[in-house]
Amino acid sequence: MENAVKIHPAVDAGIKPTVEGFSGGTLTCLCATDPVTVVLSGQTAHNHVCGCTKCWKPEGAMFSQVAVISRENVAVTANADKLNVVDPDTTIRRHACTACGVHMYGRIENTQHAFFGLDFVHTERSTQSGWAQPTFAAFVSSIIESGAKPDNMGAVRATLAELGLTPYDCLSPPLMDALATQAAKLSGVLK
Ligand SMILES: [Zn+2]
Ligand SMILES: [Zn+2]
Repeated sequence: MENAVKIHPAVDAGIKPTVEGFSGGTLTCLCATDPVTVVLSGQTAHNHVCGCTKCWKPEGAMFSQVAVISRENVAVTANADKLNVVDPDTTIRRHACTACGVHMYGRIENTQHAFFGLDFVHTERSTQSGWAQPTFAAFVSSIIESGAKPDNMGAVRATLAELGLTPYDCLSPPLMDALATQAAKLSGVLK
């Protein structure tokens, strides 16, 4: 039975599995002319669907799909002049195409941050397949802030669980542990 609750086009019709040895590809924005392209030279990690209000979502999607990759493996290869940071005050600086709105990569510039060195990317903007498949859902409750009906959250979480995307209202336990570990190191609690 087709799920009544739509999460994201990359997962609604079944999740494409990760391909062993996959070595990367090119992200392209939605512009019909002079698109921005970004080459990712490597596989991504921690791919997930995200319900926060900051991540870029395709038209009509309730969630975004976002993964991380080492910043050294991210290169803008065309029309870089169309990119602009959406909000310079956020931890993740999301470099978006000013013409079509697609976020091409999000970068953390704070060297003290647990995720410094990782860029956030939407691999659905690539025609290659084999990218790391999404494995969890982050910030699920936040979709209410984008207009999702609070009464429907049970159905949303059930659909996510059915897809194998464990729903969390923050990040996944390994990522939350990484953030807390870094905070403990910075405060001196953890030596
Ligand atoms: Zn564009
Ligand atoms: Zn997000």
